[in-house]
Amino acid sequence: MARLGSWIKAEPEGIYVEPADAWIDPSQPKARAWVTHGHSDHARGGHGAVLATPETLAIMETRYGPQSGQPISYDETIRVGEVDVRFVPAGHVLGSAQIVMEHRGERIVVSGDYKRRPDPTCACFVPVPCDVFITEATFGLPVFHHPDTGSEMDRLLHRLHSDPSRCVLVGAYALGKAQRIITELRARGHHDPIYFHGAIERLNQLYESFGVELGELRHTATATKQEMAGHIVIAPPGALNDRWSRRLPDPVTAMASGWMRIRQRARQRNVELPLIISDHADWDELTTTIRELAPTEVWITHGREEALKHWCMTHQIKACELNLVGYEDEDD
Ligand SMILES: [Zn+2]
Ligand SMILES: [Zn+2]
Repeated sequence: MARLGSWIKAEPEGIYVEPADAWIDPSQPKARAWVTHGHSDHARGGHGAVLATPETLAIMETRYGPQSGQPISYDETIRVGEVDVRFVPAGHVLGSAQIVMEHRGERIVVSGDYKRRPDPTCACFVPVPCDVFITEATFGLPVFHHPDTGSEMDRLLHRLHSDPSRCVLVGAYALGKAQRIITELRARGHHDPIYFHGAIERLNQLYESFGVELGELRHTATATKQEMAGHIVIAPPGALNDRWSRRLPDPVTAMASGWMRIRQRARQRNVELPLIISDHADWDELTTTIRELAPTEVWITHGREEALKHWCMTHQIKACELNLVGYEDEDD
């Protein structure tokens, strides 16, 4: 009998689905690409035909210009070559999907990046039992436990209200994290204007065009220091320590990332208020998901593969690591 999943090849530049002649999240331009979500390490420009959710295609067009894209909505099944393919929610960012493939009676699920906790800006992860689960492992170590999102948001608001002469500058990945922070703040009753760095403007607009309500937002370029005092300002992580932040009123520097669990990372970026908010599964979410899907095999991509591989083996699940290159979730 053929090895399980022998029709899928893990190449350095991505996952190749042979009977469909398609690549998943390839790091190099390919004739046919299936893209799990819009983050730039997964969705690159220059492909021939792109199969992705309408939201992901819109994100790619915002970044790279017109795509020869074929939109596929959640739970629609299409046949490509000899493979039935379906995109189901991954709970990571707007439009993010797991790719479910069936070929010759085998079902393989590629998780893409995912998380299990609720996120008001995107559809919740849908578990699909399968023979082979190809999972990410960005936070694949038991030390990674993301606290409750609500308690992190309360810390942010508490800090904001403790000194109305300052602003709190939150570093957040421009796609997904920034909009999630804004909607979480709104859900906690914070309806003051939120200021944003110009680099996240187009993505804010894109989220709103898909029905995610962000409330009153203002561009920092049109505001005075005085106006921004006592307010939250959202910027991409790269802007936290650059000249741009001098226009802000004595900012308390915060950053929202799963990496904030590691003190040294917070110190490197001069972060005063680390907020542990991630769009990736933590250790418990990874292992709970594998238990729930009960796959025969787990293949592990970008992250700390060793610990998760070991966990699978001790739970009688065959596991291996795939050495794909070019996936970086540094700020996530
Ligand atoms: Zn991602
Ligand atoms: Zn990733």
